Amino acid sequence: MSRINRAWHEANPMPKNPKPDQRMAWHAGHAANCGCRAMPDGVIRLFVERGLPVPEQLALKDGAGRKG
Ligand SMILES: [Zn+2]
Repeated sequence: MSRINRAWHEANPMPKNPKPDQRMAWHAGHAANCGCRAMPDGVIRLFVERGLPVPEQLALKDGAGRKG
């Protein structure tokens, strides 16, 4: 079952041809606000390559049982 935050998606469209920094910013915001899908490995790698902490992801949290 998807836990999509439609309002967030509508307010935050992914840029076309995003630069790595834009992908990181989008996915960091996405991970914090929407659980519809996990962060792709390629994006996680961008954080790791820069020595940045990988954001916590709503998509990977279990049992919260909260409705937004
Ligand atoms: Zn989403």
